[in-house]
Amino acid sequence: MDLNKKRVLVVGLGKSGVSAALFLQSQGARVTISDAKAEPQLGKEIPLLLDKGIVVETGAHGERTFRDQDLIVLSPGVPVNAPQLQQARTYGTPIIGEVELASRFLKGPIVAITGSNGKTTTTSLVGEMFSKSGLPTQVGGNIGTPVTDLIASSTPQSYNVLEVSSFQLETIDSFRPRIAAFLNITPDHLDRHGSFTAYAAAKARVFENQTRDDFAVLNADDTTCVEISKTISSTIVWFGGKERAGSGSFVRGANIYWRRPEGSEVEIMPLNEIGLKGAHNLDNILAAVAVAVLAGCKPEDIRRAVKEFKAVEHRLEFVATIGGVSYYNDSKATNVDATIKALESFPENIHLILGGKDKGSDYTVLNPLLKTRAKRVYTIGAAAEKIESQLLLPSSIAVQRAETLRNAVRLASELAVTGDIVLLAPACASFDQFEGYEHRGRTFKQLVRALQNQDPAVTAARRSING
Ligand code: ADP
Repeated sequence: MDLNKKRVLVVGLGKSGVSAALFLQSQGARVTISDAKAEPQLGKEIPLLLDKGIVVETGAHGERTFRDQDLIVLSPGVPVNAPQLQQARTYGTPIIGEVELASRFLKGPIVAITGSNGKTTTTSLVGEMFSKSGLPTQVGGNIGTPVTDLIASSTPQSYNVLEVSSFQLETIDSFRPRIAAFLNITPDHLDRHGSFTAYAAAKARVFENQTRDDFAVLNADDTTCVEISKTISSTIVWFGGKERAGSGSFVRGANIYWRRPEGSEVEIMPLNEIGLKGAHNLDNILAAVAVAVLAGCKPEDIRRAVKEFKAVEHRLEFVATIGGVSYYNDSKATNVDATIKALESFPENIHLILGGKDKGSDYTVLNPLLKTRAKRVYTIGAAAEKIESQLLLPSSIAVQRAETLRNAVRLASELAVTGDIVLLAPACASFDQFEGYEHRGRTFKQLVRALQNQDPAVTAARRSING
């Protein structure tokens, strides 16, 4: 792809948009970057972009900006059906995403990991397994480092392990991972994709350019994955599942095994060496094992990586035990399925903090687990009312409007007793009250740590007032 002197518009001034713009400029393109947000809401990179000779447009997209471009590169946050883009398509302008752009320049094989939940955990685990095996590896994509930032350091031998979201997959064209893993799919982002079918179709695009020489790693317990497997041209490898034919990773008894295509099996590791909590994390480990074996990692290196792996921040992250009450930060549980998995990780006595910005979710699916495992629910943020109207719980489980995270933590700390769990797993996006889930998770941790410094007598007095 020759970018020299090409007119390229980058839409969206987020991390990956900025990275794409700088990369394009370094290739000799004439770059404009445009964002509908006003300058004060954007990052601090604008002076750097201007300094490099990139045209920066903020506050609105100019009428002419989308015209006369040779290429348009979208950031993942930009809806693909925006009117300006529809118009640009009528001029025949190619429109691709940052991941697609980067993949055209990356050297070395690509491993792509997608799914509704578990992407970051699995991507990090795969990165660790590769590193422990001595494979030259770089990790990026939705997990943090834009893929365009990996181009310069990529080599023909190095693996590029990428977390890819459905938004990023909506704008691929020739993106072809050597190994692509599809972890699971549950309703999420329906506000943006319109329907579950459209969302699943966007995710399944990760396999679209693969051939028989490539691998598709699929969840044997996920019905959508089983459906998708019928449409894939690459070699299929499963993870999970009970009695299942074919190659893949699975649990039998107290161990994880790998089954080779011809049927022989290799023991990978015992389950009791796993530090991560929850059955969902076992699924992530099985997916990562399959990817790692396919890339040539040895069982002993895989085992070491899993053994040493700690929860990624904001993913069912243990914060502290205070007065016998344990606090867990699962701020990344931004959809109902992730909250279900968090609830399933603790047998009982849960004080759950729920709420934030609704994504068109159905919260009624939480009722069965809450009935058996929760003691109290505290609702916060814009979705509080909707959540309360959908939770149908016995009177022994109070649902209490806390409005803010601060209030929720205070109430929970006063009402919880030894052996209880206070869990932030809000099932919602955070943007009504926070800058993002990281900000929400950090705030939660600060509030919990402040409790640690509080006089125990004060807490005891509050508890007795609250009964
Ligand atoms: P993603 O990058 O796909 O959002 P993360 O690893 O960041 O995935 O985890 C997001 C949330 O989903 C966390 O709340 C985590 O506890 C939960 N989770 C992780 N793995 C799974 C899984 N396999 N199935 C369901 N939920 C999961």
